[in-house]
Amino acid sequence: MDFHLTEEQKMTQKMARDFAEKELKPRAAEIDATGIHPLPALKAMAELGMMGMNIPAEYGGSQAGVVSYSLAMTEISKACAATAVTMSVTNMVAEVINAFGNEEAKSAHIPKICSGEYSCGAFALTESTAGSDPASMKSSAKLKGDHYVLNGSKTFITSAEHAGVLVVWAKTDKAAAAKGISAFLVGKGHPGFIVGRHEEKMGQRGSPVNEIIMENCCLPRGSLLGQEGDGFKIAMMALDGGRIGIGSMAVGIGLAAIEYATEYAKNRIQFDQPIASFQAIQWMIADSFTELEAARLLVLRASFLKEKGQRFTREASMGKLFAAETANRVCYKALQMLGGYGYMKEYPLERYTRDCRVTTIYEGTSEIQRLVIAREILGLK
Ligand SMILES: Cc1cc2nc3c(=O)[nH]c(=O)nc-3n(C[C@H](O)[C@H](O)[C@H](O)COP(=O)(O)OP(=O)(O)OC[C@H]3O[C@@H](n4cnc5c(N)ncnc54)[C@H](O)[C@@H]3O)c2cc1C
Repeated sequence: MDFHLTEEQKMTQKMARDFAEKELKPRAAEIDATGIHPLPALKAMAELGMMGMNIPAEYGGSQAGVVSYSLAMTEISKACAATAVTMSVTNMVAEVINAFGNEEAKSAHIPKICSGEYSCGAFALTESTAGSDPASMKSSAKLKGDHYVLNGSKTFITSAEHAGVLVVWAKTDKAAAAKGISAFLVGKGHPGFIVGRHEEKMGQRGSPVNEIIMENCCLPRGSLLGQEGDGFKIAMMALDGGRIGIGSMAVGIGLAAIEYATEYAKNRIQFDQPIASFQAIQWMIADSFTELEAARLLVLRASFLKEKGQRFTREASMGKLFAAETANRVCYKALQMLGGYGYMKEYPLERYTRDCRVTTIYEGTSEIQRLVIAREILGLK
């Protein structure tokens, strides 16, 4: 057992931290207030190798590895969670194309993701009536000659309005539930693929979320990822990796909140002493740092297993579940430590709390993570 990071991992962590401190943190409140997607920052992050961290160099990836990816995600999330979620989804899309795309798809899209030519990628699985249960999706894909014709809609798709390429799921066999789902690649602005409503949301406001409408969207046969019927498997494999990203993000937001609140507690005077001298505040600090460290280790363990090519479904779900639930508790306590000031927009705690909330919801709710973990432990299908 070795808890030390390699020199390369430390360098990636420092690179992400320096970038986040200098380029993201000073703008995070403005990004939140305006809801503007930070496109120049995303381009700069791609140039630093943060958009294809598990992608081979031949497609322009930085090959930094999964542990480095997790460390970088945490650093970016400490500064701006809206930027971090874009990074997470974009890396996930690059990895899906790398694992399941044909050579043409790989060389057409992955270098553009890694270089920042595409601002980001998008992952279009959820539908209005199929969230936790994607196998019940209604979107359809019918093979007609050399083309698939897609019809249906998608809901809550992160970055859809800016993505250069999207992975979209639809049923090629309606009767077959999960086994009838296939995955396709769609380029930005493709006819019949309409990016719809931009949702107004509670947090991570600089990360746009849209609906998508597919109206006789005609895709060449080569847009299929893997084989017909592989879609559900592709989605689940991608989400295993995605959960490492969201767990790492939750750790970052939680750390940002408790580090800020701890500094505040050292300087805020009540009853003629810093509030940090009160045991009630000390326990909030001690519990928060301890639980976040446990979350960080769980997420890093899942990252380590993925990097070694071992099975990591259970560990990724445990990491995401524990990190997301912990970070939400930490944000609640950290805001409490600032008293009324925590509730005011002048301080970042209310933003951290709003940004953190969704980590127990997307890429599988906490309830779905428990379901995955229990199935893994019990050996259920
Ligand atoms: C900001 C944001 C960004 C998103 N980005 C994307 C994206 O980029 N791509 C994408 O495809 N999707 C995206 N989503 C969708 C997200 O993944 C879903 O919202 C999530 O999976 C939950 O689905 P749902 O909202 O339909 O809730 P539901 O599935 O309707 O769940 C409602 C409640 O029921 C519980 N529940 C459901 N089934 C069970 C069960 N079997 N056992 C116990 N409890 C259960 C859930 O845990 C939850 O508490 C995004 C969502 C948000 C909020």
